[in-house]
Amino acid sequence: AKLQQRAGHLYFSRSMGIDISERVNMMHALREAFEERQLYVVYQPQIDMLTRTAVGAEALLRWCNEGVMISPARFIPIAEYSGLIIELGEWVLRQACLETVRLKRRGFDHFMISINVSQVQFRHPQFLSMLKRTLSDTEASPHCIELEITESMAMEDPDALTALLNQITATGVSIAIDDFGTGFSSMSHLQKLNVDRLKIDRAFVTEITESARGSSIAEAIIQLGRNLDLDVIAEGVENERQATILSELGCAYGQGYLYAMPLTSDELDEWLQQHAQ
Ligand code: C2E
Ligand code: CA
Ligand code: CA
Ligand code: CA
Repeated sequence: AKLQQRAGHLYFSRSMGIDISERVNMMHALREAFEERQLYVVYQPQIDMLTRTAVGAEALLRWCNEGVMISPARFIPIAEYSGLIIELGEWVLRQACLETVRLKRRGFDHFMISINVSQVQFRHPQFLSMLKRTLSDTEASPHCIELEITESMAMEDPDALTALLNQITATGVSIAIDDFGTGFSSMSHLQKLNVDRLKIDRAFVTEITESARGSSIAEAIIQLGRNLDLDVIAEGVENERQATILSELGCAYGQGYLYAMPLTSDELDEWLQQHAQ
């Protein structure tokens, strides 16, 4: 059984694990949860590894279904398939924008929030106008917003992508390439794209301490960032050894359980009080 999506290349097949009826059930439950405001956004601090201060946070979507947390890794594909991701993604962006405005009022002027953008959202013809409208509605500073697109998205349709990234950058919003190192981007392609930051995938951060050559991919990404004048952030930093090695390699930013878990808006406030710059 394979259902093809009209616009995208997304489909479900039995090989993906849970069966169709379970997916359809989850699709209905997700829509209901969204309408009944059972979804919320958490924020995981992003740290300047040298000064050990928080410079921003990544917005991550949460769904608590009757006391049970459902992972976004499971429900985001369903939101993409059903098209709900368009509304959902806009809502997450809006929450993040409002959060930057709130933080600014509390004195965190340059605190940046990164938002994950799905490929379905990104390909939507109204994406740019939605972004601009949300920025103006919420009065968020574009300089406080970063969009994370995945490396595989960054490899598609180079001309259309280059144009879109230029338009986004013109608004003042930054772009990061998420899960970097897992795709196949060439240096020459990357050089042409208007991006600000590379995010080293957690898999390569984990590898750092696993073997003698374990840090070689992280090292190559950090070097690439240096050569192309892009910032680099490591995700999934869990221990001091990883942080020390990343720091020594010249990685500027880190995010992971070592520093902080994803936090609710209130928890973030408290955390920032305790980790005041
Ligand atoms: P991601 O963008 O790669 O996000 C990083 C994931 O790693 C998050 O999982 C985060 O909670 C987790 N993480 C952070 N620090 C650590 C650590 O030190 N160790 C380990 N083991 N994990 C860590 P989460 O929140 O479950 O999100 C999973 C994925 O779901 C995200 O991967 C992202 O692709 C997607 N996602 C989450 N929220 C959104 C959203 O609002 N929109 C879209 N389109 N996708 C989202
Ligand atoms: Ca991400
Ligand atoms: Ca990742
Ligand atoms: Ca820039």
